[in-house]
Amino acid sequence: MDYDSDYDGILTNTDAQQEIAGIFDDEYIYSAGSLENYAKCPFSFFLRRIMHIDGIEEVETELTPMERGNAMHNILFKFFSQRHLQGLGRINKDQKQEALEALQKIAEDELGAFHFNGPSWNAYWNSLLGTTNRPGLLEAILNYEVNIHPDTLEPLMFELSFGLPVRPGECDTSSRTDTVDIDIPWEEEPSAIKLRGRIDRVDITSDNRAVVMDYKTGKVPTGPAICNGLVLQAPLYIEAIRNIFPDLDPISGAYYQVKSTNELGIKSKLGFKGDDNILNGIKSDSFPYTREEFQVLMNSLLEKIGRHIQDMRLGIFNPTREMECDQYRYCNYKHACRLDGLRNLIVASEDREASENGEGHQEKVVTEPATVLTEVVD
Ligand code: SF4
Repeated sequence: MDYDSDYDGILTNTDAQQEIAGIFDDEYIYSAGSLENYAKCPFSFFLRRIMHIDGIEEVETELTPMERGNAMHNILFKFFSQRHLQGLGRINKDQKQEALEALQKIAEDELGAFHFNGPSWNAYWNSLLGTTNRPGLLEAILNYEVNIHPDTLEPLMFELSFGLPVRPGECDTSSRTDTVDIDIPWEEEPSAIKLRGRIDRVDITSDNRAVVMDYKTGKVPTGPAICNGLVLQAPLYIEAIRNIFPDLDPISGAYYQVKSTNELGIKSKLGFKGDDNILNGIKSDSFPYTREEFQVLMNSLLEKIGRHIQDMRLGIFNPTREMECDQYRYCNYKHACRLDGLRNLIVASEDREASENGEGHQEKVVTEPATVLTEVVD
């Protein structure tokens, strides 16, 4: 048994299928977030991005995780872009105190726009700005920049956006309103997709190699989640940089974790090692060693994206096929989806059997009165 009906997010009505195929035509503009949403759970993608059904919002008495993330992004954007515009490069030890005062001032202005108070707001404020006897996260970030961030890398672009409105002072000066075409390296359709997005930060070496970074105020995705195509931002943004700046050589997609004084620093999650240890000082997952192996990995991730779009066009929006849904706790749609661990267990064991019999990919035909859907089961 598999997800096979409209109640499972598998659209079987031909009119609905045609409409869906029309939505996701070659002109549709994707974001890394929307593609990741589909990769993790097509059903929640369908409810959220096609049906536009939102969860019920709770009244917040303090910043939500998203607002905290946005506040931190704004603080770091303003701080680093102001330094860059002033012609100041990496922060050195002698500049640290002055830089800290500038950073704290920006943070006070940013957080001052919120009108919360109470113990938990005070604790959050102190965790960022510090107290007289305890340094806060902002000072820890500066210490990291001065002492650990590799001196081979220069932070040069901040909030670089593409395919989005360009508002001076809110994004990098190299931003553009045009989308970026990302090629899918295969013989099938789509051969390319249009992407919009915003890259938090790009650090560049003196010989034009680029590390593409995303700030994270929460957990950092794991290397396997990225290499298995569940988290797609790093490969998409690497390709976007390659496309927008042909002179740059993007060698890594990394996360800059700014969660707490203990969970802080750049973690490179997708890239290759190469020979010259340019990323020394940056924590990295076990990468392919050579550029060629890295390109093979990138191509396989781009193919997965192509496969997702093919499935969207066919109207396939099933709940996750994982045995357990790792988003269940926070998912607004958990009471609407028919996630069933037992069904997934059966599908997994059928797949295992097929692979043991050397059948590889299994062509599965789901029949419905109105139409026939052909679905490739991995
Ligand atoms: S609970 Fe999990 S499977 Fe169900 S809609 Fe949410 S993310 Fe998808």
